[in-house]
Amino acid sequence: MPNQEMMRRTFSLMEEAGKKGNRPFGALLYNEKTGEIIGETGNRSTEESDPTAHAEVSVIRDYCKTHPGEKLEHLTLYSSCEPCAMCACAMVYAGVGELVYGMTLEDAVELFGPNITLSCSDVFASSFHRIKVTSGFLRDEARAKAAWMLEEFDIITHEATK
Ligand SMILES: [Zn+2]
Repeated sequence: MPNQEMMRRTFSLMEEAGKKGNRPFGALLYNEKTGEIIGETGNRSTEESDPTAHAEVSVIRDYCKTHPGEKLEHLTLYSSCEPCAMCACAMVYAGVGELVYGMTLEDAVELFGPNITLSCSDVFASSFHRIKVTSGFLRDEARAKAAWMLEEFDIITHEATK
């Protein structure tokens, strides 16, 4: 059973990201066995001037820099939103064991504008690595948080998101 506390923590990361001028997305790596949060971040694309600094890619990069050569098979990635195709590929290359996400890519498109709508499940299915996926976990809360962020913060919605 996915962990509600971890998912809600990604919603706080969304807010932190948005406050720094980034798109409001958050992700963390969680060790279910030890109950330990291994790493967490929001989207950093604006603050790092890096279009690839999505939350999921960033949390994987942070972890792998300090754990060279280690696979992430034992870790669950929690994300406020379904990972885009780029992040899904990063999860495959990193060997992440499990994914739990909140709102769907369709939700993100509805709220933030056009995006690449290739489902992460399709990316995983066509890859060499199997990742257990729980989709739409606390989806309504994720959507509500995103809608609130859009009202509260100056978030760009007309270009590719995440
Ligand atoms: Zn992404």
